[in-house]
Amino acid sequence: MKYNVFNIKQLRNWFLTDFLPTISKKIKKLSFQKKIFLAISLLLFIIYLFLLPKNLFTEPYSTVIEDNNGVLLGAHISKDGQWRFPETDSVPYKFEQSLVTFEDKRFFYHFGIDLIAVARSTWLNVKYMGVVSGASTISMQVIRLSRKNRNRSLWEKVIEMIYATRLELKYSKREILALYASHAPFGGNVVGIEAAAWRYFGRKPHELSWAESALLAVLPNSPALIHPGRNREELRVKRNKLLKQLFEKEIIDEETYELAVEEPIPDEPDDFPQLAPHLLMYFHAQNNNSAKIKTTIQADIQSNLNEILYRHYLELSENEINNLAALIIDVETGNVIAYTGNVWGENIQNNNCQVDVIRANRSTGSILKPFLYAAMLSDGQLLPNALVPDIPTIMGDFAPQNYNRGYDGAVPAHRAIARSLNVPAVRLLMKYSVAKFHYLLKRLGMSSITKPPDYYGLSLILGGCEGSLWEIASVYAGMARSLNNFNNYGFTNENDYFEPFLVKGENDYAPEEKMGNNPILSPAALWFTFEAMLEVERPEDEANWQSFSSSQKIAWKTGTSFGFRDAWAIGLNKKYVVAVWVGNANGVGRPDLVGVKAAAPVLFDIFDFLPSVNNWFKEPLNDMIEATVCSKSGFLASTNCEFTQEMLVPSTGSRFESCPYCQIIHLDKSEKFQVSSNCESPDNMIHKSWFVLPPAMEWYFKSRNATYTTLPPFKEGCNGNMENTTNNIEILYPTEGIQIFVPTELDETSGRTIFRAVHRNANSVLYWHIDNNFIGQTQQLHQVAVAPDKGWHTLSVVDESGERKTVKFLILDED
Ligand SMILES: [Zn+2]
Repeated sequence: MKYNVFNIKQLRNWFLTDFLPTISKKIKKLSFQKKIFLAISLLLFIIYLFLLPKNLFTEPYSTVIEDNNGVLLGAHISKDGQWRFPETDSVPYKFEQSLVTFEDKRFFYHFGIDLIAVARSTWLNVKYMGVVSGASTISMQVIRLSRKNRNRSLWEKVIEMIYATRLELKYSKREILALYASHAPFGGNVVGIEAAAWRYFGRKPHELSWAESALLAVLPNSPALIHPGRNREELRVKRNKLLKQLFEKEIIDEETYELAVEEPIPDEPDDFPQLAPHLLMYFHAQNNNSAKIKTTIQADIQSNLNEILYRHYLELSENEINNLAALIIDVETGNVIAYTGNVWGENIQNNNCQVDVIRANRSTGSILKPFLYAAMLSDGQLLPNALVPDIPTIMGDFAPQNYNRGYDGAVPAHRAIARSLNVPAVRLLMKYSVAKFHYLLKRLGMSSITKPPDYYGLSLILGGCEGSLWEIASVYAGMARSLNNFNNYGFTNENDYFEPFLVKGENDYAPEEKMGNNPILSPAALWFTFEAMLEVERPEDEANWQSFSSSQKIAWKTGTSFGFRDAWAIGLNKKYVVAVWVGNANGVGRPDLVGVKAAAPVLFDIFDFLPSVNNWFKEPLNDMIEATVCSKSGFLASTNCEFTQEMLVPSTGSRFESCPYCQIIHLDKSEKFQVSSNCESPDNMIHKSWFVLPPAMEWYFKSRNATYTTLPPFKEGCNGNMENTTNNIEILYPTEGIQIFVPTELDETSGRTIFRAVHRNANSVLYWHIDNNFIGQTQQLHQVAVAPDKGWHTLSVVDESGERKTVKFLILDED
């Protein structure tokens, strides 16, 4: 830099103190005429220097997108209605040789004007008294094209010659050829060799044969010849004459020549490929024209994806489900390898297929549940087998229901994820906290979460927030990448989560450069999450499940939004993330628009054509510990647990709670009755570990788990004040402190609300009181319908043994 400044300074000094004075002295000595001549020459020289405009061509271009190997994915017509692809920088050899042979034999040796050709043409013109031969060089034709084909007058020709020499000073021969190839007319509204190659031959210019290249070389000279039906023979003769010249110049050999002249002249021009129309529109809008985007898409996979979506569309549209979108991401690089924003095709009309659903925000359904599972495993707030309550749950006006409307009482966490149970998910979120999960989603890249946590509340885990296929797929890709990076490089961090790449060459992701081990979700948590997603199964009433079986392992999750408006399915293995959305872009819900029925079959069809990936994720053993876990509850084993197992859990798992459900109870010798020290001597007692769930969980759990044994009853005279006061009663509704809104009925009386409780012993009687007033008794099915006045009340439920449970609740006014 310094060196340069120094030089320029020196040059300036020399110019000011030496050159200028000397030259001005010399000019002063000249005669007046010579001065005028010098001035005019200088002026002409300056005009010549600035002759060429900065941009020779100012026409609008088409927006063109290519796959990662240069295959044309689609093109958008330019603003002036031409198929004019952005300028090419390389001209294929066959076309170059054909063009030079046909148009300008001495192109590589002249300076813009071919003097031999000019002399010949002048002689011919004089001889035949008119314009016969053009003697136009390729350089002159570039000028002619840039000056929009003005009249072919002699004066215009002179201007073209002058400009052509200037062109030659500015550009190399190859650049001039490229300018010509980019702007020459090829018939109709096709401009430039790239558009022409795709239009007439459906291939890249570099892949054209000699016959095809020769045909394109003769075409700009008389572009109308390409129109089908007319002049076919004339075009063939022209082409073959050129091929003969190429053979005579020994540019092609005899065999090539013989075969080339046999090639047919193209018939009806092909339509341009339309493999990713939504991606094309995305880039078209982004660049507002004139762009050639080299994408990360793989054309063969893209066209397979299109076919699969179309096939499913034909079936789904019979149920008025009209839109499908899918995205495939390469996990390692983050490159998008296929992008179909919506199903489209010849027979699809007026079904909003122009909407790019990949980028649209839609209700997420259950598709975010694995993120919560991973986050809790990551924080040591959960173990894969730990039981999660699955019982009626009412939080204010929020009462989540499972898909099957039933309750299991308690479910191992990994099964709750695999079965996509809503109640356990809400219970987990209550434990984790909405605010923390909200923050996690944003950190993972869910930018469509724009409202504060309170706005979503617990519904955040059941589709209460929106997300796009784009960002949800990105998060899953980040998770898979993060686990791979930990296994491959020994570290992983939040840089593993990023938006996928669509433009080739923009991908600057290099995991090995991003040191530091600070993952958002721990590797072990991710591994267990994917394991749980391997077990994902159909809802109970779903048939034909077996048809989804696949030879490869795929971790997957479905989602269905409220009102059957969105069906999601996302699947992944070590290499690919596939994301599918099915629904109606206008938001109309349809029966059977359910993730597992509508979207999952598409997902599995896509995995079936993707290259099969046989290795599953490696277990991240460095992030795991062996723990003793209660076989009954899945919690860390306590001293009370009789059945335990050693198993690998996330290294944070040691923070998790020890089993709260196993307790030591005291039995008499027959082991049929519980006893206590006030009715049995310790010598006659048998101490036993017993797995006891709280009443509400037990109520539902025992009906689904035949091996669950309820606590034996107390020996006569032994109950009453026992040492280990077991909770036998649980009030399901109302919950402590709940605010209940009771609507007014049509007859203006206050509506009733149902209170529910459970008792561990099937035959027990419960006595119900509100504010110490007895309101009734129940047996077996413990529920009462009540209509308390507005204000605070106390509900008490008492059983025959005197065990009492109490909650306070508030009845709200209609307004
Ligand atoms: Zn236990």
